[in-house]
Amino acid sequence: MTARPIPEPFENLHDRILDVVGEEGVVAEAGEMARYLAEERGRFVGKAAFVVRPANTREVAEVVKLCAEAGIGIVPQGGNTSMVGGSIPFEEGDEIVLSLERLNRIRALDADNFTMTVEAGVILQEVQQAAAAADRLFPLSLGAEGSCRIGGNISTNAGGVQVLRYGNTRELVLGLEVVLPDGRIWDGLRALRKDNTGYDLKQLFIGAEGSLGIVTAAVLKLYARPREIVTAFVAVPDPAAALALLSRLRGASGESVTSFEILPRLGLEFTLRHIEGCRDPLEAAHPWYVLVELFGGREDGGLRELLEEALAEALEGSLVLDATLAETEAKRRELWRLREAMSEAQKFEGGSIKHDVSVPVSSVPAFIAEAGALVTELIPGCRPVPFGHLGDGNIHFNVSQPLPEAGGDFAPGKAAYLARWDEMNRAVHDLVVRRFHGSISAEHGIGRMKLAENERFKSAVELDLLRTVKKALDPHGIMNRGKVV
Ligand SMILES: Cc1cc2nc3c(=O)[nH]c(=O)nc-3n(C[C@H](O)[C@H](O)[C@H](O)COP(=O)(O)OP(=O)(O)OC[C@H]3O[C@@H](n4cnc5c(N)ncnc54)[C@H](O)[C@@H]3O)c2cc1C
Repeated sequence: MTARPIPEPFENLHDRILDVVGEEGVVAEAGEMARYLAEERGRFVGKAAFVVRPANTREVAEVVKLCAEAGIGIVPQGGNTSMVGGSIPFEEGDEIVLSLERLNRIRALDADNFTMTVEAGVILQEVQQAAAAADRLFPLSLGAEGSCRIGGNISTNAGGVQVLRYGNTRELVLGLEVVLPDGRIWDGLRALRKDNTGYDLKQLFIGAEGSLGIVTAAVLKLYARPREIVTAFVAVPDPAAALALLSRLRGASGESVTSFEILPRLGLEFTLRHIEGCRDPLEAAHPWYVLVELFGGREDGGLRELLEEALAEALEGSLVLDATLAETEAKRRELWRLREAMSEAQKFEGGSIKHDVSVPVSSVPAFIAEAGALVTELIPGCRPVPFGHLGDGNIHFNVSQPLPEAGGDFAPGKAAYLARWDEMNRAVHDLVVRRFHGSISAEHGIGRMKLAENERFKSAVELDLLRTVKKALDPHGIMNRGKVV
């Protein structure tokens, strides 16, 4: 039984939904609901009439149908990790949260077709593990993989650390099953590499952040499991050298470069200072680093020698200052930990204003230099920590607050510094879009956080197209309203 009284306008709907999903499928007690109503950073905290947890596609469809009839808004939710407020209801409490967490079955794995059919609530790491158990690779890999769910990954078109080689989630989905805003089920679970029978409807729902329907299952593309993995931590003088090294390695290795992540010295210092068990893998300090990983199809297929030779050559030409290769899996994990801890370590250095942006790969060095100068002019003493996926042009341009000794208005006032968030975002986004023709959201989506910013940059034609699609699929605006468009 539910302990909290259901708000009056929802009583009837609650009871009818309860009939569909049973006691296990409804959460209405305030304490139990809390984890569905806030995301980890605490930036968005919402209210909901109640939370529904259907157990299968039919139940999702019936719940959506009931909400459509009642005109009640639905906020779909996966692992609730996306951090832009897309999975959190608004503060009015007049929506329901529909969690996909109980749709957690792997329906099929076809090793010869290199595909897997999964329900939306399967945790990303479990998808990866199931693929590995069948000697296959599902290449989507990111920091939140232990808690985000594949339906959320699809709905945000997640990227991660292997986009350079395998593409974004959009490239990893062959088919979808979707519950539409009127409760009908679209079965598009095709496992085909080729299908030219008209509009590619699944693409509408990928990256739609729950604004067009609820993804309930997907056919995912699998790859051969790599037999050789070579990982190096490389010091470089500047981002331009890192870019030149990337081009060189891509050419020399026949596109075996799977990850190519850039880290500034300041970011590494934060990690060494604050994150337990991390140590500098190189003897001297250097201004910039890249973490590079290559995947090969054969054990001892010569990738290691290839990387060693390429790095030695780059060292002679001063493109590289120093490097270390992981000799063991434990060492490889240690090197990756330095990259993965970048965001976490910044929390200990006061306020951090964030930008999740992308520019053409070849423009990354110029972007880092110009954005650094821009924010420093805006807030003297602020500390840019640009890091991330140089291989696909996606830089997390995070800026830590000035140190107390740097003086100025914001040292050490975290709140005063963070109050400049929107102003700094606007300046950096202007640079990204107007100068570099980049994107103001490379990975995390639009959600609530970037709605206004997105509209600032989209042309009237593009906004019109987006709104036309939204209206066509969701004429009553019940699916994740107030998000994305
Ligand atoms: C530590 C960390 C590291 C990260 N690193 C990366 C990275 O390297 N690359 C990257 O691209 N992203 C990264 N992210 C963001 C990540 O992509 C998203 O958090 C993740 O893909 C969202 O999955 P989720 O299940 O948590 O979705 P949620 O946060 O629950 O939802 C995200 C959006 O999708 C909607 N939604 C969820 N499920 C469905 C569904 N079944 N049908 C329709 N709509 C749905 C929600 O309404 C919401 O709008 C990172 C996040 C964290 C916390």
